[in-house]
Amino acid sequence: MFRGIQKISLIDYPGKLCCILFTGGCNFRCPYCHNPELVTGYEKLPVIEEKDILDFLKKRKGLLDAVEITGGEPTIHKNLPGFISNVKDLNYSVKLDTNGTNPEMLSSLIQKGLIDYSAMDIKGTPEKYSEIARVEVDLGKISESVKILMESKIPYEFRTTVFPEFFGEEDAEKIGKWIEGARLYILQKPGSGKTLDSEYNNKRVYSENELKEFLPILSSFIDEVKIR
Ligand code: SF4
Repeated sequence: MFRGIQKISLIDYPGKLCCILFTGGCNFRCPYCHNPELVTGYEKLPVIEEKDILDFLKKRKGLLDAVEITGGEPTIHKNLPGFISNVKDLNYSVKLDTNGTNPEMLSSLIQKGLIDYSAMDIKGTPEKYSEIARVEVDLGKISESVKILMESKIPYEFRTTVFPEFFGEEDAEKIGKWIEGARLYILQKPGSGKTLDSEYNNKRVYSENELKEFLPILSSFIDEVKIR
């Protein structure tokens, strides 16, 4: 399941020192994806054994607070809950990044107390979802995951990687309405570096000031909106 590890991060889990685990494989093909090696061709990357990760976490107890699990898309792996359960037995906080396509697993993880924070991608408005993800997306599942997080007691964030071609004022308004009442929504500036579709290395992106113009629209629906 795991194809990568970053042993320490100060910035990925709000308020905690975490390590990051990367799962291989994803059911989306977002052209701007910054982890293309985890989406296609990940089979060529060496597997990091779960036992070795748990041994590492045992040794880091007291130095690390938390584990972030990201991908690829972690929830495509049926054995994810079993692994997280072992991590929780070591008393680590767990943050899960997801694209929201597996509400059943998300709900079960929350109900069992196995995750403490979740960051879910909102790729765009419902109308543009499949175009952005470049696969046929079951929007019912995405909406269900939104609802599960909003009704849960755990802290969560929704986030959108923003490209002008997918996101304008109308889209901001539609997304705001879709996730109305959410606690936190983040507009993410696309990072630099390689992308799944190399055209997205050089696409026009919004400036900080242009992104700020979306804040009042989104803030009328959402408790807190940030640019990252
Ligand atoms: S951005 Fe996320 S959801 Fe999209 S292809 Fe990459 S890993 Fe999958």
